[in-house]
Amino acid sequence: MLLAHKIELKCNNKQKTYFAKASGAARKAYNWALDEWQKQYAAGGKPTETALRRKLNSIKREQFPWMLEVTKNAPQMAIIQLGQAFKNFFAKRADYPSFRKKWIDDRFTLTNDQFAVNDSRIRIPHLGWVRMRESLRFVGKIISATISRAADKWFVSITVDAPGQLRTTANENQVAVGIDLGVSDFATFSTGKVIKGPKPHKALLCRLKRLSKGLSRKQKGSKNRNKAKLKLSRLHRRISNIRRDAIHQLTTEITRDFQVIGIEDLHVKGMMRNRKLSRSIADMGFFEFRRQLNYKANMLNKKVVLADRWFASSKICFNCDYKLKFLSLSTREWSCPQCGENHDRDLNAAKNLEKMAVSSCAVVASFDAENGFLNKACNAMEKMAVGPSKSITRNRLQTTSSGFH
Ligand SMILES: [Zn+2]
Repeated sequence: MLLAHKIELKCNNKQKTYFAKASGAARKAYNWALDEWQKQYAAGGKPTETALRRKLNSIKREQFPWMLEVTKNAPQMAIIQLGQAFKNFFAKRADYPSFRKKWIDDRFTLTNDQFAVNDSRIRIPHLGWVRMRESLRFVGKIISATISRAADKWFVSITVDAPGQLRTTANENQVAVGIDLGVSDFATFSTGKVIKGPKPHKALLCRLKRLSKGLSRKQKGSKNRNKAKLKLSRLHRRISNIRRDAIHQLTTEITRDFQVIGIEDLHVKGMMRNRKLSRSIADMGFFEFRRQLNYKANMLNKKVVLADRWFASSKICFNCDYKLKFLSLSTREWSCPQCGENHDRDLNAAKNLEKMAVSSCAVVASFDAENGFLNKACNAMEKMAVGPSKSITRNRLQTTSSGFH
């Protein structure tokens, strides 16, 4: 499984200059290729990244001689990334590629034959060893490294293909949990626990507004403008760090405590279009939450079960399965017309997600039965037939865990 570790670089001025130059070469190549792509496409051609890379190679000595001062990997990889961006666009996974901007998209990527990692140092072509703030966290085959700027600091993100770091968890807590991600609270667990989201953005929003206003008043190219720019991007970095740290803590806790985790397959893109919600959703980092949860669950041999997008976790009564026809977003509590149970909207959703996750694991168990794990699965099924309770859930999960990886 691919894992990335992002580490701050301790670099001197010479190294910083090199990184800025290499990022510039990558940006130029990317933007040049995107421009070419659009021109060729408009002229009825069929642009490909391979052809564009070849073309750049043939003209760069003449047109962009400064590119030769840095590793040729930087412009090459940028065009490969453009090809990938188009692939994602055609597969409807991403928006149409946009031009890279200076300061914002300062980064370049190296393939594994171009650099070496040695304890807490990384060797960059044409430059030599650069110190890293910590050593690489994962063991495995190194795939690539991306060096990027955030405000005035440089980071390297090293991608590693790590063999599944399986840990047979025979711990006490082999239970399932459903987690409802929300707008008013970040996460509601089916156990009743509620996590008030990390919302650094709102808290720092005033400062952000003030800084960006100040920036627009300053003259372009002036020293003060550059200073203000740096301040602003530092604040951006601080905000995203706060968010990421909080999400790391949460996902570590969840994957440590639970064996099976049911979450909703939020249609985040659709929700982002709803502008009222979008700010808090972006703040909450649902994407990041899902990404971390998935890779940590993989490492620890835990199972994340995604509910179908149309699974009406909020509208179904957890107690009797009655389904409401309509439930407005603002309704935080409701009573079931069939069984009379009072529901907290989010808690009820989380409980439904737990139920969903557990029953989807039962399906795994029955597949196992066909594959010769008959006894195990039958035991699990029998226990399940008794009815839902925590202890049964626990047994069921233990017996079926062989089917999860
Ligand atoms: Zn009910």
